[in-house]
Amino acid sequence: MENRSEDLAGRERGGRSEMPFSSPALTVLGSTGSIGTQTLDVARMHGYRIKAMSAHSNFRLAEEQAREFLPETVCMTDEKAYRELKARLADTDIKVTAGKEALCETAALSCDMVINAVVGMVGLEPTLAALNAKNRVGLANKETLVTGGELVEAAEKANNVDIVPIDSEHSAIFQSLMGNRGNKIEKIILTASGGPFFGYNKEQLKTVTMEQALHHPNWSMGRKITTDSATLMNKGLELIEAVRLFDVTPEQVEVVVHRQSILHSAVEYEDGAVIGQLGVPDMKIPIQFAVTYPKRLPSCSRKLSLFDVGTMTFERADEETFVCLAEARKAIAKGGTAPTVLNGANEAAVALFLDGKIPFYRIGELVCECCGSVPWNGDVTLASIAQSDAAAREYVMSRV
Ligand code: NDP
Ligand code: MG
Repeated sequence: MENRSEDLAGRERGGRSEMPFSSPALTVLGSTGSIGTQTLDVARMHGYRIKAMSAHSNFRLAEEQAREFLPETVCMTDEKAYRELKARLADTDIKVTAGKEALCETAALSCDMVINAVVGMVGLEPTLAALNAKNRVGLANKETLVTGGELVEAAEKANNVDIVPIDSEHSAIFQSLMGNRGNKIEKIILTASGGPFFGYNKEQLKTVTMEQALHHPNWSMGRKITTDSATLMNKGLELIEAVRLFDVTPEQVEVVVHRQSILHSAVEYEDGAVIGQLGVPDMKIPIQFAVTYPKRLPSCSRKLSLFDVGTMTFERADEETFVCLAEARKAIAKGGTAPTVLNGANEAAVALFLDGKIPFYRIGELVCECCGSVPWNGDVTLASIAQSDAAAREYVMSRV
């Protein structure tokens, strides 16, 4: 089989990828966010050490976390927040650093796993820095794979070090591949909650509010990914993420709306068997599994009761209304930096929406207009990614 399950089976036999269970040292990038704080909850429960962490603007929470977990280094990417945190931690031995370069240096500090939970394509370079330093990566930051999937794959190979996905769907697929060495994948079933506006038509999307968009039915997450879930761009980014992680074609990824978020995704094999992973919607489960893989440890998460769930439903996504998903399919089919253009347009449009500068429905329109206008590059390098990202953002800003 020309896909990921070959590698997975190799890892299952143990060896280089196993985590030391006594007390692994984690570096948490984006420690103040939704995934970051839940990673620290898992670390607190199991007594994991925190080697280093990073945050952007939330120096108050970063200070609290630093005093509790006593990392060697905290990197603040926002200059003002850096100065605040440095002053606040002056009575400790904790080193406080600033800026994008320092973020990469933090990712490269030797540790057992770097959890990358920053939001946006700023996560790409620290992911590469971690892999190049031979650190395993637990990856929540999907924008890394959307923009620089090829570079990440090359760094994984060159350094003989792995990425374990944290995104719940990709963790489910990863788990569904375990024990299936040499078996051909027919397709991947990528489940989607459908977000708060499932069933709406284009007219109805014109009147939705920010408050409605930020109220996800099943998951509590950061504002950017919650908005992406409402536009279905999140599923588009995840489709690209699945193609990158599991070496399948976009056509092999079937998006299925499953409102209850209990089946987190599945793999169909050529004999027709479908193997999936189920559980309550709680990100601590995939976060902990990324750290303990291939083993499992007790967790503080609620257990699944199928009696309480009662009914599970499966429906098609409406890609005519939720244009971002269709646009993501087009971008991955084009290849090169086309997914970077898609992502850059989306990051810019979502930021405008969250600032109250554009209505919800304009996000999809701007993404589609941008992908149809901004040229993409066939060569994927850090320079071409940066150039395509900047061009996409500039295009979106020029339309507002
Ligand atoms: P949040 O917005 O809650 O947290 C983002 C983190 O990144 C914060 O620590 C924030 O710092 C930091 N950050 C923000 N801007 C920058 C920047 N320019 N440079 C460096 N760091 C920055 O996001 P989530 O935790 O929800 O999501 C993180 C990633 O995980 C995203 O890629 C998302 O798609 C993915 N993911 C999230 C899931 C979830 O349940 N939340 C599920 C699956 C995937 P500060 O707060 O200090 O400003
Ligand atoms: Mg997900």
